[in-house]
Amino acid sequence: MAEEYVRRRENGVVYPGDKACDRDSFTARALEILPFYTTYRETYALLRRSRWWSREELLAYQAEALSRLLDHAYENVPYYRRVFDERDLVPADIRTPGDLALLPILTREDLQKNLADLKARNYPESAFEYVTTGGSTGIPVGFYYERGASRAKEWAFMKTQWDRVGYRFTDRCVVLRGYIVGSARDDVYWKKALLGRWLVMSSHHMTEETLPAYVDRIRRFRPRFIQAYPSTAVVLARYMREHEIEAFPTVRAILCGSESLYPWQRSLLAGAFGCRVFSWYGNSEQTVLAGECEESAHYHIFPEYGVVELIGRDGRPVERPGEAGEVVATNLTNFVCPLIRYRTMDVAVLGEGPCSCGRNYPLLEKVEGRVQDFIVTGKGELLPGITMNIDTDAFDNVKQFQFYQEKVGEVILNIVKKPAFGDRDADYLFREVDRSCGDDVTITIRYVDAIPLTARGKYRYFVQNMPIRFGEREFAQDEHGSSDVSA
Ligand SMILES: [Zn+2]
Repeated sequence: MAEEYVRRRENGVVYPGDKACDRDSFTARALEILPFYTTYRETYALLRRSRWWSREELLAYQAEALSRLLDHAYENVPYYRRVFDERDLVPADIRTPGDLALLPILTREDLQKNLADLKARNYPESAFEYVTTGGSTGIPVGFYYERGASRAKEWAFMKTQWDRVGYRFTDRCVVLRGYIVGSARDDVYWKKALLGRWLVMSSHHMTEETLPAYVDRIRRFRPRFIQAYPSTAVVLARYMREHEIEAFPTVRAILCGSESLYPWQRSLLAGAFGCRVFSWYGNSEQTVLAGECEESAHYHIFPEYGVVELIGRDGRPVERPGEAGEVVATNLTNFVCPLIRYRTMDVAVLGEGPCSCGRNYPLLEKVEGRVQDFIVTGKGELLPGITMNIDTDAFDNVKQFQFYQEKVGEVILNIVKKPAFGDRDADYLFREVDRSCGDDVTITIRYVDAIPLTARGKYRYFVQNMPIRFGEREFAQDEHGSSDVSA
């Protein structure tokens, strides 16, 4: 099969072609985990037990895991030895997650500047797998996984989440997660992986012309699940709804992650695919993982995975359910490159527990997205993109859109028109968007020919070009605190 392996460039950095679905990606990565099957099995077994633990048992487990991590970081990670020494602290001073506030926040800039000193000295070089993630500003951030083990543990957590909607390893899955597969030469935009169980479909070739073939291929593949970036699944869902295409009868749930899931996306996907949308929130840095359950769409934070703090705009920890804060998280499973109080630049709203499912995990009511997904109003307030309803009929004749901001209180809505788009659409669209943005934001509509995907194959609805911060004042830093550079 002729294939086009595309390596993309963004900001001068070449991403390893892991998003081009060649035979070295999925299956090979899965095989790489095999020697770590014991790690997978142990983690999975722990999670099967801990899911019904009481709040006290979870807190005790977390406190113990945290002290193990801090002892290790102090002994073996030069950066953290320095952080402790500069503050006259020893790991024993931090007994509970609440005491973590004694340590500074780790920003992306700190991570990049100190990466060499963040590597644990008691692991051989072969244990380090270098990983990069696209930062919210498009600048990739690099860090290390423990080769094999980190991905094996991640799988155990993901499998535990997906168990909630009945996922089994033998299930057929369609994967729509930013991959580049196939080429226009042979009209094949997908490829099977994992012994034929997964059909990985290209996110980069989905057009009005090719989508009928996608729909046909999915129907013949008879998947039980669709794993997707919400923005990619939306392209397929909108097409299906507009052409009154019936849902795939075999699909039991849409598994959505790696991007914010907006309420309008959830209802669009549930409607077009006629099934449950199941989403989770996490990051490649593996500091936080939280997912929906059988009974609720609130995100259940895995306390075994990381310690999550929410820091409000006033710089204080968020304590009241319903309040939003920036997610600062500490990974409990990665000892080769510990990330303690890592500033994720994501904003989430504290939920109220416990959930009726019986788990005593802390809850997030919703994840409002990256700080870069907020619009700054003329009064300097932050308007979360998540509150906007973008699935009104005002967008019916819009093929693609993207909000763009570079000045306070001013937003440009870039749109790619469908052929039927006329003056009345423009007026209607303007009124609808103007209304959702309120009085303190000026909207300008601009017509563009195309809106490209990011290097990671994601479709961004908001592009924020201002140095935006969630906190009204910077997080408290003592005189040793890392200088927190504006993006
Ligand atoms: Zn629940």
